[in-house]
Amino acid sequence: MIIGCPTEIKTREYRVGLTPAAVTALCDSGHTVRIQQGAGLGAGFADEDYIAAGASITDVDSVFEADMIVKVKEPQAVERARLREGQLLFTYLHLAPDPAQTDDLLASGCTAIAYETVTDRTGGLPLLAPMSEVAGRLAPQVGAWSLQKANGGRGVLMGGVPGVGPAEVTVIGGGVVGTHAARIAAGMGAQVTVLDLSLPRLRQLDDQFSSQFRTRYASKANIAELIATSDMVIGAVLIPGAAAPKLVSRADLATMKPGAVLVDVAIDQGGCFETSKATTHDDPIYEVDGIVHYCVANMPGAVARTSTIALGNATMPFVQKLANLGWQAACRADAHLAEGLNIHAGQITNEPVARALGRDW
Ligand code: NAD
Repeated sequence: MIIGCPTEIKTREYRVGLTPAAVTALCDSGHTVRIQQGAGLGAGFADEDYIAAGASITDVDSVFEADMIVKVKEPQAVERARLREGQLLFTYLHLAPDPAQTDDLLASGCTAIAYETVTDRTGGLPLLAPMSEVAGRLAPQVGAWSLQKANGGRGVLMGGVPGVGPAEVTVIGGGVVGTHAARIAAGMGAQVTVLDLSLPRLRQLDDQFSSQFRTRYASKANIAELIATSDMVIGAVLIPGAAAPKLVSRADLATMKPGAVLVDVAIDQGGCFETSKATTHDDPIYEVDGIVHYCVANMPGAVARTSTIALGNATMPFVQKLANLGWQAACRADAHLAEGLNIHAGQITNEPVARALGRDW
């Protein structure tokens, strides 16, 4: 099979769909890989790295002639115009809120498999998890920077120093993002509490991490008590398929310490603090009532190299299956990969996506 990997063209997207390691594996299996010139530069991979791995470096036209296109972000309008009947697209799509993209993909006749709806044996989303791991681990890092005086923060050092206590960090939501955030915050020396509504999840966290951080049930009263004493609050909740619940109101900000920091990782689902609005890496923080807010919607983009490699580790087994077997046999052999099928031959093939768009499926 000929596999094409274009340069991402969405604003400030530095990740790339295939790493040189993935190219080596595909070429070893007898496939031909075309990488667009410069596609890996944002993630620190030079064209020479891809050539050494066995790929050819081409222009965008020959990349889009490939049988399968492997990308990171949803195809932009000019990329959608290049897709054709029978071609396979494997990337993040997030079609539910995007009827324009859906219509273009339907009209192209391509087969589109979306990273975000591929499942695993535990009911998890294996191609979303790596980005949650990245965002979770990054949250205390950007929160610590926001806590610095020059950035409007309280001027508190995460780990304190001998004789001076550490920062207090509250993480609301103990899933993938929250667990990784809590581990890193604790590793930086902060005193960390994780809140969740799921008792089974709190039990798991307590079993595994009780030496590193504490857990509390995410009642309104517990959230109110903890945010009042925290230097940093990290929002990491998710209700699948729904907007994030607002767990900290504007009025609550008055109970917080001046210069405390809110890091709203759930901002890509609308945010879990009433005063959150999406920000960018260029201008990541703003202040409301003396509280610093960090609300970047694509946090993994800040660490494009780590994110690219992490995403590649997760996508690679599926890319290989698709290339070796073709998408039909690959989806027959792997029901979890089949969950990723969103569009085929002008039809929406994923029920939740069709429902969200109010379309037939
Ligand atoms: P997850 O499903 O693994 O975890 C979510 C957790 O929230 C679950 O444990 C759930 O029980 C808990 N929860 C739900 N409602 C709650 C409530 N009211 N109070 C307390 N806990 C509650 O999800 P995840 O992968 O950790 O993702 C968390 C959020 O981070 C999502 O909104 C995701 O889209 C977002 N995210 C953002 C970025 C970014 O760049 N900003 C990157 C990755 C993920």
